[in-house]
Amino acid sequence: MSVIVFVEHDGGVIKKKNFEAVQYASGIAQKTGATVTAVILGTIADAEIEKLGAYGAQKVLHVDDNRLDELHPRAYTTALLTAIEKEDAKIIVALNDINGRAVAPRVAVKLKAGLVAGALTYPDMEKGFLIKKAVYSGKAFAYVNITSDTKVIMLMPNTFPVAKTEGKATIEKLPVNFGDKDFGIKVKEVSKVTGEVSLSDAALVVSGGRGMKGPENWYLIEDLAKELGAATACSRPVSDADWRPHHEHVGQTGGTIRPDLYIAVGISGAIQHLAGVNGSKTIVVINRDPEAPFFKAANYGVIGDAMEVLPRLTEAVKKFKL
Ligand code: FAD
Repeated sequence: MSVIVFVEHDGGVIKKKNFEAVQYASGIAQKTGATVTAVILGTIADAEIEKLGAYGAQKVLHVDDNRLDELHPRAYTTALLTAIEKEDAKIIVALNDINGRAVAPRVAVKLKAGLVAGALTYPDMEKGFLIKKAVYSGKAFAYVNITSDTKVIMLMPNTFPVAKTEGKATIEKLPVNFGDKDFGIKVKEVSKVTGEVSLSDAALVVSGGRGMKGPENWYLIEDLAKELGAATACSRPVSDADWRPHHEHVGQTGGTIRPDLYIAVGISGAIQHLAGVNGSKTIVVINRDPEAPFFKAANYGVIGDAMEVLPRLTEAVKKFKL
């Protein structure tokens, strides 16, 4: 018996959140005595697929069909169902992201399986198959017990830190009989909403809050981010005020990130904000109020005016790079 994990890639490159999904599937497999089979779709090199072994995949089924380079939810579902049947899988893991949301519920409906979207924990087997998830935009948590024979779990990305092992995966091509309706949707255009560095995978993040005073000052955040090769993020009031796009908002009701370095500028450090960033390895806080709560969660703090500190920090990074 296998735990199946649906692995996405971005133009042939597997992003960190997918390694996390594989590692999560591996954790469940260890509890249930199963093996882990990853399923990957579309054009991608074997050398990239092999990386999944280090996160716990024993086998990878590759549906090597370039029509799957674009998201076709029905075709993706057909491919996954083929893999699930082949492996006799009873537990299916996907990410709670755009592709996962397009595919996992379809798979669950076809298999009459219970589904948890936005899982934050491993299933507690002593209490059945109990999983914690956030509900009402993160205002509360629910504990959901999946009682159906087949179970679908959509993991919230960036919930667990990922760590490599010495594991290796074998790769098998999986032939799939697609039907006429599988490719019924035509993708006309894909427009990227993220900046140069994708926020959910970024190792370095520079984030701004209401202390930045307005969107006209955001170039200070962007300049520093550019010098560091970092992604940009923001607090919720900033995106609510349309200073920044909503996909940059981090926290309880926004994205959860786990970068190596999180630089928070003009952000007070409310618990709802911390909920999305407190897994960061190193937190640097720049705030003019020495009593700002964020300093308690920070590894390093700068008490000062963001408008003065940011240009100096950016200059220092530039010099350091020379
Ligand atoms: P403020 O609280 O206004 O803080 C601004 C900070 O900037 C202050 O600490 C101030 O000292 C500092 N400052 C001001 N001027 C300067 C300057 N010139 N230089 C340096 N520092 C300066 N918030 C989120 O971020 N993410 C969430 O997901 C989220 N979810 C929420 C869910 C719920 C149910 C609720 C009730 C709230 C949620 N919030 C969330 C809002 C959260 O409670 C805070 O209100 C919010 O995080 C505050 O944003 P801020 O720190 O940017 O602004």
